[in-house]
Amino acid sequence: MLDYVGLEADLDEEERLIRDTAREFVADRVKPEIGDHFENGTFPEELIGEMGDMGFYAPNLEGYGSPNVTETAYGLLMQELEAGDSGIRSMASVQGALVMYPIRAFGSEEQKERWLPALGSGDAVGCFGLTEPEHGSDPASMETTAERADDSAGRGADDADGYVLNGTKTWITNAPIADLALVWARDASDPDRPIRGFLVKTDREGVTTNEIDGKLSMRASVTGEIALDDAVVPAANVLPDVSGMKGPLSCLTQARYGIAWGAVGAARDCFEAAREYATDRDQFGKPIGGFQLQQEKLAEMATRITTAQLLAHRLAELKERDELRPQQVSMAKRNNVRMAREQARVAREMLGGNGITTDYPPMRHLANMETVYTYEGTHDIHSLILGEDLTGIVAFE
Ligand SMILES: Cc1cc2nc3c(=O)[nH]c(=O)nc-3n(C[C@H](O)[C@H](O)[C@H](O)COP(=O)(O)OP(=O)(O)OC[C@H]3O[C@@H](n4cnc5c(N)ncnc54)[C@H](O)[C@@H]3O)c2cc1C
Repeated sequence: MLDYVGLEADLDEEERLIRDTAREFVADRVKPEIGDHFENGTFPEELIGEMGDMGFYAPNLEGYGSPNVTETAYGLLMQELEAGDSGIRSMASVQGALVMYPIRAFGSEEQKERWLPALGSGDAVGCFGLTEPEHGSDPASMETTAERADDSAGRGADDADGYVLNGTKTWITNAPIADLALVWARDASDPDRPIRGFLVKTDREGVTTNEIDGKLSMRASVTGEIALDDAVVPAANVLPDVSGMKGPLSCLTQARYGIAWGAVGAARDCFEAAREYATDRDQFGKPIGGFQLQQEKLAEMATRITTAQLLAHRLAELKERDELRPQQVSMAKRNNVRMAREQARVAREMLGGNGITTDYPPMRHLANMETVYTYEGTHDIHSLILGEDLTGIVAFE
């Protein structure tokens, strides 16, 4: 596997073990079937519990069953999972960084005990509801509301101490198979209308989760809507320790960190497929890898992947020291996903006609990268975050 500047030589024993375990899992459990799942538009749901058993959901958290592994180990895990498929890494990212992390960071003791072990083992599936049909890049304009039940008299509130939620979330990874949705909504009973996080069980009355069909990217992943129609949620299900956009944004920083690593895995898988193909495939009487044009492509691919790997490893060091800034994560997400998107295309090209099939990974990774380039902050939005950080001038509006 490509590790051109020997970064893996510095891994400790636990990091190696996690990398090897995830790599083996991907080789045995993901790779053989993932092409079929991609073609059929299905997620391999049998892997949800297996990934829990292997400790793949938020192992970098501390307590409640999580072993608190290093940020490098967590990053390597994301890298290996995304070398399998972005849908597999998305499952682990959503469950870990977008649902378990906020419960651990902002939840009540009762919420932590109720949900963290169940999510960590994969016995429960979580999803993260931020995006709305009219508000994607600008989630602070969200329209979903939560009103104290006693303020919304006559609307079917059966829990006087609860909230009534109304609104629609869309493009929500795992929504149709989730037991728990972390829904971000405006607290309409508070004069400041702050955004707060609500733990919504998806089997509650007034909650529906429809699958979104017709995706040409991230096909081996379930994506859906969450419709909230006078859904009553007990007050005990509000995340008590956060309000405002800091809540969802801090989760996104965690998930984007994983994506910066994951994209390297997808690109590396494309590179390995292209390198193998280039040495096996003969044209004009010799392997295509013997032609200078193809060697230049491999050289560029290896260089771009290596520089992205270096950035990911540096991020891990900063995160471990608690010095990582969200803008640095934006830079890595932006750079590494663009790199993976571009290099997947080059790999696809090197495989000729075979490159457009699910028999080989590059086209599947390339299609997935269109989503990864867009979710968790589009490439453009990360440009604007960096632009603001570099100039002090906001250019979003
Ligand atoms: C498969 C998939 C899974 C997803 N999973 C989740 C999930 O689990 N939870 C969740 O909450 N969301 C999820 N999303 C939603 C994702 O985060 C949004 O799609 C993303 O934030 C972009 O929002 P949008 O699609 O509404 O695009 P828009 O915000 O409408 O953007 C359209 C285009 O305009 C550009 N643009 C927007 N604003 C500006 C600006 N100020 N300056 C310059 N250009 C701008 C964008 O870069 C983009 O190119 C998922 C999306 C996909 C495709």
